[in-house]
Order: sequence, then structure tokens, then C-alpha cells
Amino acid sequence: MKYDVVVVGSGPAGSVTARFAAETGAKVLILERRVEVGVPVLCGEGISQKIDNWGMLEGKRWIASKMDGAKIYAPDGTMVTLSKEMAGNETGYVVYRDIFDQELARQAAKAGAKLMMKTEATELLVDNEQIKGVKVKQFDEEFEIEADIVVGADGVESKVGQWAGINTVLKPNDLETCAQYTLTNVDYKSDYCEFYIGKKIAPGGYVWIFPKGKGIFNVGIGILASLSESGMALKLLDNFIAGHSELKKGEPIRLLAGAAPVAKPVETVKDNLILVGDAARHVDPITGGGLTTALEGGKIAGETIGRAIEQQMFDEETLSAYETGWKEAFGRKLRRDYLVKEILLDFDDKTLNMLADSLKDYKFKEFSTLSLVKALVLKHPTLLMKLKPLLKVSKESKED
Ligand SMILES: Cc1cc2nc3c(=O)[nH]c(=O)nc-3n(C[C@H](O)[C@H](O)[C@H](O)COP(=O)(O)OP(=O)(O)OC[C@H]3O[C@@H](n4cnc5c(N)ncnc54)[C@H](O)[C@@H]3O)c2cc1C
Repeated sequence: MKYDVVVVGSGPAGSVTARFAAETGAKVLILERRVEVGVPVLCGEGISQKIDNWGMLEGKRWIASKMDGAKIYAPDGTMVTLSKEMAGNETGYVVYRDIFDQELARQAAKAGAKLMMKTEATELLVDNEQIKGVKVKQFDEEFEIEADIVVGADGVESKVGQWAGINTVLKPNDLETCAQYTLTNVDYKSDYCEFYIGKKIAPGGYVWIFPKGKGIFNVGIGILASLSESGMALKLLDNFIAGHSELKKGEPIRLLAGAAPVAKPVETVKDNLILVGDAARHVDPITGGGLTTALEGGKIAGETIGRAIEQQMFDEETLSAYETGWKEAFGRKLRRDYLVKEILLDFDDKTLNMLADSLKDYKFKEFSTLSLVKALVLKHPTLLMKLKPLLKVSKESKED
């Protein structure tokens, strides 16, 4: 079996990469170890409405509900409301992630990509130190698939990068352990994604409540692996729900456990190889959201691959147009948010309450690190010392 490109993983990053590569005429195969694209869902299912501008998804079947923005609750209950433009990547739409992923896979297929289900890549095919494809297992059968370019779109547990000698190991400080219920029959109305922060509520992370319409809510938690122990995420989530009068009357129709990388991006290109999405650690280190970067990065990867196939050049230098592209698109944001994550981790609940108190009535004209710090210090000047590292980050990332 011989293809121009083999994409390992049919998540959003893999399907979008496959689609844009196939649109240039490349012969593309997507491998998926699961039995159904997008199933089981391992996601809070929140995504920014900026994806509307990218035209990657047709129809509306993948949309569960539309949000007006986000509400963030400090440990003492102080609430800060953010519009959907300011709220970042994880608000805007709440989606049906299974349908969302399947729609992206359909777009890839429409462009000419082939999909092979229940097929797990087990190692790289290497000849004379050059990557030549992948070895796979489908049910009990093992075989080889040749390709000029292998794409690692294999998510948070990615192996493809490691097989190629890229260090993708996640430190406990760079990994969020997550659990989520989808609750039905909840008598609560909200058009906002809600986030609850605090060392006791969710150490090194947060609880989220995402409305899916008709009394259905995703209620989940992410806590930093370095601050957690076995079973802790679910225990804290259960405590949270028990303390929330409307939620506790709901019944679960889904329970999931998963992990999100909140690390710095890794090296994403080698000769004959590209990493995209969670495999590349293209995830916002503050929120753990990776859907928009999976789509944005996947498009850049697919277009780069398309050009490489046209030129029949598969070396690192040719493929590095992808790394340059994603760095321009969202590299600075990921770098800055990683530093902000580190700073926020040092804040105790009292400081988080002060931050929320400063922001609760502040009307932002624009959103930047500097305007945020100004808003915070205006009300609580004592915060200035704690926020100094934020200003340094702002300067380093050449923000205003
Ligand atoms: C609990 C939780 C909640 C989240 N909530 C949000 C949210 O609300 N908003 C947001 O933006 N992000 C969220 N995320 C993160 C988001 O889900 C990921 O960033 C996103 O799925 C990344 O897409 P991907 O295509 O890179 O990887 P994935 O979607 O993980 O896809 C990888 C695919 O590769 C397949 N695969 C893996 N190894 C192999 C192999 N060897 N052979 C063949 N196939 C393989 C897997 O089966 C999978 O289908 C959340 C994550 C978690 C865990």
C-alpha cells in the first residue's frame, strides 16, 4: 500500500490536515484506531465562533448551542462576565463533538482522502534512517503502509513524535487530568459558559459548565496532574455538583475521563514527518482548549504538505513552512499563555478573589495583557507586585 501522505488519527487536526493536503491532489490516507470517528467524545465541546470565518464545517448539525460569552466565578463567588469576543477559545459554540469530528472527516473524504478505521499505527516504517511510512495493526492483521509524509495527529497520548525522536513527554505540571458528566434534566438556564476557579474547587485548573440546550449540560473539571492523586478529579467534580442546587437534580447520560496537555509546543517537523494538534501540544496552556488550534494548524500543515508533494520534496526544510506558519498564527499566544499559566499557579484563593473583584465591573475597550493589569491594579494597588511577571510576559511577547 502506498500513499503520498499517511495521517495517524482522525480527530480535528488529522481530518483538516488530510483535507487540505488532498485538495491539492495528494493521495492521502487517514488511520484511526477507534471504531467510529469522534466516538467516544472526550471533550467539553466548547469552541470559539471565530471558526465561522474559516468555512471548514458545513451545515449546523454539529452545533448544540450558541453562547453569549463566559462567566468566571472566583472562589468567593465574585463573578466576572466576558463577551464571547474576549472570552477566548472555549466559548462561542457548544458542539456535538462526535458530529463535529465526523463533519471534518466528511470534508476530508470529499477532498479525496481515504479513511481506514480500527487501524492502529504501531511504529514508523524506517529504511536507511529515512521515514517511509507506518506499520499498522487492524484486528489481528499486521501490515505496512508506505508514504512520503507521515502526519502525527494522534492526540494527547501521541506516539508518532516519540518514534521520530521528538521529546513529547509531558511533565505532571503540564498535564490536566479531566473528568466530565453530561447531565440531563437540569432545571437551569444559561447562555454563558461558566468557569469556576480556586485551589479547593480545582487545584491548578477549573470547573466548567457548558449548556447544550434542553436542560443538558457538560459539567467537567480539569486539575493539574502534579497537584492531584488517583480519583481526585471525579471526587472534586462530584463535590462541586453536590453543592450546586440545580445541577445536583440532573442525571448523567455520559461520564468521561481524559487528559489535556498544557505544555509548550514541541518540535513539529522532521524529514518526512509533521505533528499537528494535541500531538504537537497545540493547546492553550491556560484553558486546555485545543480545537481552534487543531483546525488552524491542520490547515497550515495540509497546505504545506500539498506544496511538498507537488515539488516532491519531503525534507525538514521544505516542511518547516508549516512550523513558521503556525508560529505566526498562534505561536506567540501559546508561548504567552504558558507563562501566564505558571504565574496564575502561584496565586492563592485570596488573590484570585481580588482579581475578580477588580474585573467584575471593569468595561474593557480592548483586551490586552496591559489593559488587564491596569484594570486589576486600579482597584487593588497591592496586586501590582504579584502581577509584575505578567507585565514582563507582555513585554516579552511584544504586546502593547
Ligand atoms: C475532558 C476534556 C475536555 C476538553 N474540552 C475542550 C473544549 O471544550 N474546547 C477545546 O477547544 N478543547 C477541549 N479539549 C481539548 C480537545 O479535545 C483537543 O485539543 C482536541 O481533541 C485535539 O484534536 P486532535 O485532532 O489533535 O486530537 P484528538 O481529537 O485526540 O484525535 C486523535 C485521534 O488519533 C487517534 N489515534 C491515536 N493514536 C493512534 C494510533 N496509534 N493509530 C491510529 N489512530 C490513533 C485517536 O483515537 C483519536 O481519534 C478537551 C480535552 C479534554 C480531555
